[in-house]
Amino acid sequence: MSERAAPFYCPYCGDEDIEPFGDAHGEWRCDSCLRVWKLSHLGSTGKADAAAEVPASDP
Ligand SMILES: [Zn+2]
Repeated sequence: MSERAAPFYCPYCGDEDIEPFGDAHGEWRCDSCLRVWKLSHLGSTGKADAAAEVPASDP
C-alpha cells in the first residue's frame, strides 16, 4: 500500500472533526482546537516491532 490512510483523530485534542488543510499532502486542521498539523514519514526502521523497543534511559 503506497497511499497513506487518513487520520481519524486530532493528535492533540483527540477530536474527530479534522479536515485537510492547505495544498500540501498530509496537512490537517482540527476544527475543535484549531491546530494545524502535518503527518510525515520519517523512514523505515526495518523491524516491525521496533516501535515497541524503547531504549532505556539512565535516571
Ligand atoms: Zn484538535
